[in-house]
Amino acid sequence: MGFWDKVKESANKIAESESWAAIKETASNVGCKVGVHSGKPQHIEGQPQCYMEYTCDKCNQLIIKQKHKFPSKSDAKYHSNRSCEKRLKCEYCDAVETVTVHEHWNSKGVDGYCNNVEKCARCHTERKNGKHHSFIRRGTQGSKIVVECINCRHTELKDTWN
Ligand SMILES: [Zn+2]
Ligand SMILES: [Zn+2]
Ligand SMILES: [Zn+2]
Ligand SMILES: [Zn+2]
Repeated sequence: MGFWDKVKESANKIAESESWAAIKETASNVGCKVGVHSGKPQHIEGQPQCYMEYTCDKCNQLIIKQKHKFPSKSDAKYHSNRSCEKRLKCEYCDAVETVTVHEHWNSKGVDGYCNNVEKCARCHTERKNGKHHSFIRRGTQGSKIVVECINCRHTELKDTWN
């Protein structure tokens, strides 16, 4: 083996061992990279009860965890007449979470595609909630009954006429 081959070989070895070390390093810190750090969250004196922090023992980052205590959606009051939004405020700090809880869905019948249309009594939002066809009997196919919807023209085969 010539001199330059030896140099090349040892250079390759160094490169291999370095990348191996990098791979091992990455593997042990892979949790940190995806936000899963290692350590035990602790409450800090003088901070609200929902505030916890710890220093990750792998990457030394200070990690803050907040576990707010929001009231239940059903207990919270609506904050405006025409809106189904509720603002939930943390029991311990000023954090607020906004949730939408529709008060009451009134049926508005079906649309041209037989979707059940419902409208919220409070905020007037509309939604489609399932289908309701108005079938009439069209005939039979083998042992099945052919039905057709008089509204959307959808046809189906049924076992019994109910
Ligand atoms: Zn970490
Ligand atoms: Zn809080
Ligand atoms: Zn609503
Ligand atoms: Zn229909």
